[in-house]
Amino acid sequence: MSKDSKQSRLDKIQQQILDDKVCPDLAKQATQLVFGEGNPDTDIVFIGEAPGKNEDEQGIPFVGAAGKFLNEMLEMIGFKREDIYITNIVKYRPPNNRDPYPDEKQAFLPYLEAQLSVIKPKIVATLGRHSLNCFLPELSISQVHGQPKRLKGQVYLPLFHPAAALYNASMKQTLVDDFTKIPVVLQQI
Ligand code: URA
Repeated sequence: MSKDSKQSRLDKIQQQILDDKVCPDLAKQATQLVFGEGNPDTDIVFIGEAPGKNEDEQGIPFVGAAGKFLNEMLEMIGFKREDIYITNIVKYRPPNNRDPYPDEKQAFLPYLEAQLSVIKPKIVATLGRHSLNCFLPELSISQVHGQPKRLKGQVYLPLFHPAAALYNASMKQTLVDDFTKIPVVLQQI
């Protein structure tokens, strides 16, 4: 499928979320839907938890401090933001940045799966435990971070969340180390 037709299918999924009125209570409190951004022809999709304040204002995932750190790690491994695709499980900002509720994650999951089935990345890199446990509910991030896991033909790479790692020096180093594995894992697939 061409890059343009992938993008137009993604645009349709975005519109579907609005048409289906997913999580109307979250939608009411948010500024806008934060659907996802990047190259639909990428080998790697990063999935965070939910938009924060900056993302809610700009309509783009990972544009705050965690996003800046993510961009630095991407550069470190020779990638630019435009090379990858990035989204969140929950696509509206939860009030006061609370954790998304299980029913909110559940409600958005079919749309996330639809995004992935259009993009068909080699790697789904999950950021943080919410994202990991959406796909691999029985795994613990502290035990499996940096270890690629294959499920139904899809490779997942569990990573710590950059926002959590920003304020924890040892987690930060672990996340940087895990990031350096991305090119190696891509080569092996
Ligand atoms: N944290 C997330 O999980 N997602 C964002 O988009 C920003 C911060």
